[in-house]
Amino acid sequence: MKLYQLIYVSKSSYPMSKDDLQEILKTAQENNADQGISGLLVYDRGHFFQVLEGGYNDVETLFTQIQKDKRHSRVNRIVSSHIPERYFSEWGMGFYNLDEMAELDFFKLRKFMKSLHEVTSVEQKSKLAKYALQIFVDLKQNPVSAV
Ligand code: FAD
Repeated sequence: MKLYQLIYVSKSSYPMSKDDLQEILKTAQENNADQGISGLLVYDRGHFFQVLEGGYNDVETLFTQIQKDKRHSRVNRIVSSHIPERYFSEWGMGFYNLDEMAELDFFKLRKFMKSLHEVTSVEQKSKLAKYALQIFVDLKQNPVSAV
């Protein structure tokens, strides 16, 4: 099966509590494993960033479903393309709540998360997505402690 990756950002419809985020994550972890979908969900003060990886149809079907979810809006596809291998193979759906993480200066990342909502050019989106992916892959390899 050819692997496919889709990255989007969105804004939460209201400030997410830990329980709200847990509910989304639980659903994602249960459903995604069944569909062979892996990825990462990041939440930062009202901004979502999500990476979905798997088969083309499975990822696009899930994305269609996610876009309809009223818990967020302004869903903006950043990139979608075939990839040679998974970036987050070990996670049904990994999760970072940047509000809860210590020991790291997230200033740049937060600025970047915000700017992702504004970019429209395909080239810029692709560049920013690569930058973000690298940050989160590094973070996975060198985890920081939670507050
Ligand atoms: P149902 O749970 O019956 O949902 C029915 C409808 O209600 C859907 O439109 C759903 O979006 C909405 N809904 C469900 N719970 C709530 C709630 N508490 N408040 C408001 N509306 C609600 N699902 C995955 O399977 N994998 C993912 O990776 C994934 N990522 C997500 C990322 C974000 C940022 C968000 C907001 C949601 C994500 N979801 C994910 C959830 C997804 O949108 C669907 O809720 C889920 O797939 C179940 O949908 P359903 O129609 O099968 O079932």
